[in-house]
Amino acid sequence: MAENLNPFAIAQAQLDEAAEVLGLDPDMHAFLRRPQREFHFSIPVKMDDGTTKTFQGFRVQYNDARGPAKGGIRFHPDETIDTVRALAAWMTWKTAVADIPLGGGKGGVICNPRELSTGELERLSRGYMRNIARYVGLFQDSPAPDVNTNPQIMAWMLDEYETIMGHREPGTITGKPLALGGSAGRGPATAMGGMYTIREAAKVLGIELKGATAAIQGFGNVGSFAAKLAQEMFGIKVIALSDEFGGIYNANGFDYHEVAAHMAKTGKVIDFPGSVPISNKDLLELGVDILIPAAIENQLTSANAENIKAKIIAELANGPTTPDADNVFERKGIYVIPDFLCNAGGVTVSYFEMVQNAYQYYWTEEMVNQRLDEKMTHAFHAVHNMAQQKKVYTRVAAYLVSVSRVAEAVRLRGWV
Ligand code: NAD
Repeated sequence: MAENLNPFAIAQAQLDEAAEVLGLDPDMHAFLRRPQREFHFSIPVKMDDGTTKTFQGFRVQYNDARGPAKGGIRFHPDETIDTVRALAAWMTWKTAVADIPLGGGKGGVICNPRELSTGELERLSRGYMRNIARYVGLFQDSPAPDVNTNPQIMAWMLDEYETIMGHREPGTITGKPLALGGSAGRGPATAMGGMYTIREAAKVLGIELKGATAAIQGFGNVGSFAAKLAQEMFGIKVIALSDEFGGIYNANGFDYHEVAAHMAKTGKVIDFPGSVPISNKDLLELGVDILIPAAIENQLTSANAENIKAKIIAELANGPTTPDADNVFERKGIYVIPDFLCNAGGVTVSYFEMVQNAYQYYWTEEMVNQRLDEKMTHAFHAVHNMAQQKKVYTRVAAYLVSVSRVAEAVRLRGWV
């Protein structure tokens, strides 16, 4: 039978497996399998040529038992409600595993931002917020950037929200520009958090990181910072890098700054001087110590799982691995740092941003990173210890930690 690649079906299958190991009450299980609330809306946007184009927007508040929903907004031509549902579910497990007092949500708009002018993008962003303003806010649901959205888009959305509400409430949106109350360290936070988990995984596996090899798929916000930090923090040799246009390979390792300069000039990693071209498919199958998927969903599947040779897979992307591939990695003894643990650094610093906004008092980048390190190290060991204790695969262990925390909050509230 063909593998089901629907992200929400995958998220539900992962929960089902954890529910079985946990012996979760069936009523609780049924409640946690579905989002609590969904918003579907049309956003009419006046285009530069005088026409009006209607875009479809979504916001899913998957679960807010542990605190207000939290999660990014994606602008993508292939966005679907099931992708948003899956990402909102993963946000719920992510905030729980990181042990921050927030729930899980996600948003999206079906659009191709590369085809929009700056003015059209601003009107779309403000239109999104006009539709959802009454249902978000510091104590309800706090959006943030994700694929194809950025601090400028967050600034427009926050301004629209505050104009409608008639007061300043910066913690409603995170990933804001620093000048509007953004946090130091938010840009690299997801990759930085991932590095702390890689450091801890290397410790428990007895792998020396200095001189270890890595391949990174994706050179956007997360992948490019991962390349930089892997080199600067640990002396990891990054031998392969890629983006949607293709990849580059050099057995001696790349210097991040040189590749970043090439990227700034050409908009792609390919044709980097001195590199050998490599396809995204071949990059994933390299015999490296650490494989870092940092692009999109469903990259490690039944089609290539048997060929993966990495010792550690650090999932900075959301949903890069399918359940069939997980079965193969478990059998082969590949150590997977599951997505909602590995990439929890972004939402953790978003939470720090909300705390700083509430205090109106701001931390240095060193303070942010020190607190992020504490949170990520703690989360990593909670999952690793659970995997050891219950003799389960790390992804199942991460679900056991987070689902128990969410279920406890749901029970205490008397919902189920
Ligand atoms: P981004 O848009 O900045 O970068 C995405 C990168 O992936 C780009 O380099 C793009 O060229 C590449 N890419 C796209 N399709 C590809 C393909 N088919 N093959 C290879 N490369 C491809 O996005 P980002 O913010 O860096 O997010 C990357 C991943 O990390 C996503 O799964 C996102 O959900 C996840 N994530 C991001 C954050 C965050 O703080 N930005 C936090 C948690 C998780």
